[in-house]
Amino acid sequence: MFAGNALAADAVAPGATGAAGATPGAAAPARPGNGGSNASPAPDAGTPLRDPRGLYPHPPFSAQQQPWPGLAGRMTPRPDHGESSYRGSGLLAGRKALITGGDSGIGRAAAIAFAREGADVAIVYLPAEEPDAREVIQLIRDAGRNALALPGDIRDEAFCKQAIERAVNGFGGLDVLVNNAGRQHSHDSILDISTEDFDWTLRTNLYGMFWLTKAAIPHMPPGAAIINTSSVNAYDPSINLLDYAMTKAAIANFTKSLAKQMIARGIRVNAVAPGPFWTPLQVSGGQTQKNLEQFGAQTPMGRPGQPAEIAPVYVALAMAQMSYVTGQVYGASGGAGQP
Ligand code: NAD
Ligand code: MG
Repeated sequence: MFAGNALAADAVAPGATGAAGATPGAAAPARPGNGGSNASPAPDAGTPLRDPRGLYPHPPFSAQQQPWPGLAGRMTPRPDHGESSYRGSGLLAGRKALITGGDSGIGRAAAIAFAREGADVAIVYLPAEEPDAREVIQLIRDAGRNALALPGDIRDEAFCKQAIERAVNGFGGLDVLVNNAGRQHSHDSILDISTEDFDWTLRTNLYGMFWLTKAAIPHMPPGAAIINTSSVNAYDPSINLLDYAMTKAAIANFTKSLAKQMIARGIRVNAVAPGPFWTPLQVSGGQTQKNLEQFGAQTPMGRPGQPAEIAPVYVALAMAQMSYVTGQVYGASGGAGQP
C-alpha cells in the first residue's frame, strides 16, 4: 500500500510553491539496531529494506512525566516523526489539508508526510504546544508548501468553525481533514473519573471532531477525504482508559456512518486505529508510569511504534488513488490489535 516507500525520486508537486525540488527527507538515517540490512538501494529506490524488529527504541523506557498536553521536544527518547526520513513523491500534490494535533506525535508525522507529498497543511494545536508547533510549521515550509498555525481549543465550537474558515481562506479551499487531536488520561477505576474529566475527554475526542467535520464538509469538493484517528482501544479497551476507549469506539462508528452519508458528496471517510505509539499523550497522564516504562512491550513487535511508522497510512487514505476505500478502519499495532 504505502506511499512514502518512495515510488520515485522526490517528484516536485505540480503547483508547488517555494523551494521547488527541495523536498527534504534524505534517505533514512542509520539507526542503532537498524536491522542490519545490507541492501544497497538503487539511486531512486527511496527507503531501503529495513527489518522492523530492530528499528527504534525498545522498552524499558525511563520514567518521565510532563504536564498535559506535553511536548515531543521534551520526551526521552524523542519520537521520530519522519523529520529526517520521510521522502515524498507528489502523491498529494496541490492538496489543502487541516490536521488537528498536528504539532506532535501521529499528527505531526502526518503533517510532515503530507507536506512532502505536496500538500499545504494547517495544524490545530493547544497554545501550550507552541514550541512543537513552530517546528512543524518550519518543516512544512521547508517542504516548499504553505503552512498555517491554528492554536486553539477544539472543545470550543466557535474555535472549530474559525479554524476551518481560516484554513479555507488561507489555502483557497480544503480537501483533506484529519481529526487526530485527542485527550487520553489514565484512571484505574470509573470511580476516579470526575464528571469534569469525562466531559474533557468527550468534548475533545468527539465534540471537536463533530464540529470540525460539520464545518468542513460544505467546503469539501468531491474527491476530498476525511481521516479520523481511532485506536486499538476501540476494539480491546485498556483497563485504565474507560472514557478514552469509548470515544475511540465511537470514532470508528462515526467514521462508518459518515462514510455512508458522504458518498452522496463524493467525500471518502476512513479512520486509523493505532496501537501503542511513542508520543507526548502517553507521557502527560495518558499512562501510568509502570505502563510507560514497558510501553509497547506487550505487542508481538516488542516495542512501541514511532509516529513516522504510521504516517504513510494517512497519506494513503488521503490520496486519490484510494478512490474505492471509504468507511474503513486501518490498524497499525506492531502485530496485535484489530481490525
Ligand atoms: P499527541 O499528544 O502528540 O497528540 C495529541 C494532540 O491532540 C496534541 O498534540 C494536541 O495538539 C491535541 N489536542 C488535545 N486536546 C486538544 C484540544 N482540546 N484542542 C486542540 N487540540 C488538542 O499524541 P498522539 O498519540 O500522536 O495522539 C494523536 C491521536 O492518536 C489521538 O487521537 C490519540 O487518541 C490517538 N492514538 C494514539 C495512540 C498512541 O499510542 N500514541 C494510540 C491510539 C490512538
Ligand atoms: Mg502535542
